[in-house]
Amino acid sequence: MPKRLQFPSANPNLDLPRGPRYRPVEMLSVASHGRSRNLRTHRVNIPAPRTIAPNVAASNLAALPKYYEAMSSAVGPLKWWPAKTPFEVIVGAILTQNAAWLNVEKAIVNLRRERMLTVAAIERVPRARLARLIRSSGYFRQKAKKLKAFVTFLRKQYGGSLERMFRTPTPELRDKLLAVHGIGPETADSILLYAGKHSVFVVDAYTRRILQRHGHISEKTSDEEIRSFFEGSIPRDVQLYNEYHAQIVNVGKKWCRPKSPLCHACPLGPFLPSTAILPEAIEPSPTTDLVPLKAVHVAPPREPAALCGRDPVQS
Ligand code: SF4
Repeated sequence: MPKRLQFPSANPNLDLPRGPRYRPVEMLSVASHGRSRNLRTHRVNIPAPRTIAPNVAASNLAALPKYYEAMSSAVGPLKWWPAKTPFEVIVGAILTQNAAWLNVEKAIVNLRRERMLTVAAIERVPRARLARLIRSSGYFRQKAKKLKAFVTFLRKQYGGSLERMFRTPTPELRDKLLAVHGIGPETADSILLYAGKHSVFVVDAYTRRILQRHGHISEKTSDEEIRSFFEGSIPRDVQLYNEYHAQIVNVGKKWCRPKSPLCHACPLGPFLPSTAILPEAIEPSPTTDLVPLKAVHVAPPREPAALCGRDPVQS
């Protein structure tokens, strides 16, 4: 039975804003997705903020639980990561770098068919053959090298045991993973959270774009500061971090596009500051009671080369 998390219902501020400017989020949900709203949301007791990132205003900390409620109320639980074993999560986290998830899935299907989704099998297979099997994920030669580097690290440091590896304290293991060829912060944190159940918040380009457009961070805010922002504002709960990141990626893919964001249909639309400014924002339809967004400032979020392939969401 999965643990049920609850936001404190006693806090009236957790209700979604329902001013004349926007349709309630549940209406958006039904209209936008053509399906019944799934009201099952994770609820958590929010403690007083523990830490705050230097480039994040303290007042912004209160927004995170509300954002989570709005996103999960709109689309329901997303149940990441789509993998059968922790090792498959790790393989997926490496293969999804600069690749669309659909292409990663094809590579994983190949690996599964050849019984390659084990540490020992990746160790044994010649690198050239491994590269052929994961060709669909792009940059396949480099990714074959990265997979080999990971299993070599695992063998040397933990005798090939993921269980032993994940027993390592989080900060120590994160540092070790970051030292492995081909593993950067987002991949390391995805491995820690989704494969190892360590409470690390995964920060990606979607997170940055949404927070920046909503005025919570600046262009100068580092990924580490964003991570600190989340980890200092919401409880260190693996299930919550898992679902929150999945919801952010979902919003980033469906609504918060690099250009022409669909704010009028987005679950986070009610939280967009009236002064927010979006590049080429799509204005609401005249049939809705939304008012057009006025652009006063546009600070394009940092956009990595292949944003859309960084996370396992099928769009
Ligand atoms: S689409 Fe608009 S409302 Fe939704 S997260 Fe992006 S900026 Fe905010």
